[in-house]
Amino acid sequence: MRVVPAPVGPARPDAIPSLVGRCTFPSPGHDLVCAVSGGSDSLALLVLAVAAGCRVTAVHVDHALRPGSGAEAAVVGAVAARLGADFSSRQVVVEPGPNLEARARAARRSVLPVDAATGHTMDDQAETILANLLRGAALDGLGAMAPGPRHPLLALRRHETEALCAAMGLTPVRDPSNDDPRYLRNRVRHELLPLCSVLARRDVVPILARQASLLRDDAALLEGLAADAVPDPSDAGALAGAPVALARRAVRRWLTEDDDRAEHHPPGSASVARVLEVATGRWVATEVEGGWRVRRSGGRLALRGPSGKVRPVKTERVASSVPSWGQAEVGEPVVTAEALAARVFELGTAITADYADAPPLLVGVLKGAMIFMSDLARAIDLPVDVDFMAVSSYGSATRTSGVVRIVKDLDADLAGRHVLVVEDIIDSGLTLNYLRRYLQARGPKSLEVCALLVKEGEQRVPLDLRYVGFTIPSAFVVGYGLDVAERYRNLRSVHVYRPAMEGG
Ligand code: 5GP
Repeated sequence: MRVVPAPVGPARPDAIPSLVGRCTFPSPGHDLVCAVSGGSDSLALLVLAVAAGCRVTAVHVDHALRPGSGAEAAVVGAVAARLGADFSSRQVVVEPGPNLEARARAARRSVLPVDAATGHTMDDQAETILANLLRGAALDGLGAMAPGPRHPLLALRRHETEALCAAMGLTPVRDPSNDDPRYLRNRVRHELLPLCSVLARRDVVPILARQASLLRDDAALLEGLAADAVPDPSDAGALAGAPVALARRAVRRWLTEDDDRAEHHPPGSASVARVLEVATGRWVATEVEGGWRVRRSGGRLALRGPSGKVRPVKTERVASSVPSWGQAEVGEPVVTAEALAARVFELGTAITADYADAPPLLVGVLKGAMIFMSDLARAIDLPVDVDFMAVSSYGSATRTSGVVRIVKDLDADLAGRHVLVVEDIIDSGLTLNYLRRYLQARGPKSLEVCALLVKEGEQRVPLDLRYVGFTIPSAFVVGYGLDVAERYRNLRSVHVYRPAMEGG
């Protein structure tokens, strides 16, 4: 059994006022751009918009994908002229290839104003709901299109637009791609929807449209609750503390706030889930669609853009505990991997702002600063140069004398450069003092220091540190580049070093 909507017979032009009454056009006298392909739905849109008293401009977008598509513009132009509407024709270039439907839609949107009206009917609404369901959409996707000036015909059925065209003596353009089974929408239209109606033993289009309307109400309520629960989605604590259904919405809203980004890379549910894990502390940072990246820093989330602003790196897991191979000598973290990542991000942001006009030469002090240097360089959004020097200070195993031997000198010439020394840790300050004098003698334009760690109250010389990561208590520490006898540099956090008792 095939269930098809009862044909209403050719609508008479005098049926137009009652059709208009079921539409959601702006009030009479308002300007309205109508996207008109020349099919029966969009021709009916044009007829009804004019009848509703709008000041209508019909826009035909030629995708130039089929031979003869240019002639369709002429059809639309003639109907617009007959109705007294303005007309314009736009051409877009859509290369053949995969994802054609979506690319054609994007190209069309790019030449139409955002509030352009389309001729989607209730039948299109039902198809959208089913197609979205198959694509894995949740509540918002199942709410499909909202009635209003952008979708004024959602209460009409397709057979009504066809009947209206017939009654008006309009011959709609027939787009053969509407029958092409390669497009999901066409299979939903020609196969799935009829099957649903057979199984339900009634026309399911109004049922689906009604469900979409109810779901849109639910979605709007949840959206309001989410905005109240998490007014600022970059507040990691608020996100982590909110009910997950609201937190998800807050994240999605945040990630789609930038229209440009959202248009091309709408966030998938997996991305939203990962951002929530960053908020709750399970991860430090994560990638989201389009090369964007969300990172937590001091209780706040920051979203940083693509185009090389932050080099994409893999999602990082917080690993603050002591690995089994270090447990004999390594104590609890003094600065966790998570806090390190957040602070390095902040330092990078500050350096980016301070040196925006004159990117610095970063001078890393080997070997201790190697990991800090590599993370910091990637957190700086400027074309920095890097160079390294290696020093070795004479002294006891855990205390420097301040007499420094240059083990590896710089390759770069410092004259006239803005130099930023990247140091791992400052204890007495003697090593840095020596280095500063050594580098200053080479005539840099400026010489500043970025030290990751400074030990509290230990300095024997005045320090002039432009950037400091953390001030830590005075204990010998290892990890994140810092060693004892070359061991423990690869710990992800900075830990207190607790030498094993000899002879046990
Ligand atoms: P300062 O001259 O400031 O007393 O000492 C600086 C140098 O001593 C650092 O560059 C580092 O190589 C080493 N150092 C100082 N404190 C520590 C520490 O707690 N752990 C490690 N691994 N090295 C340290």
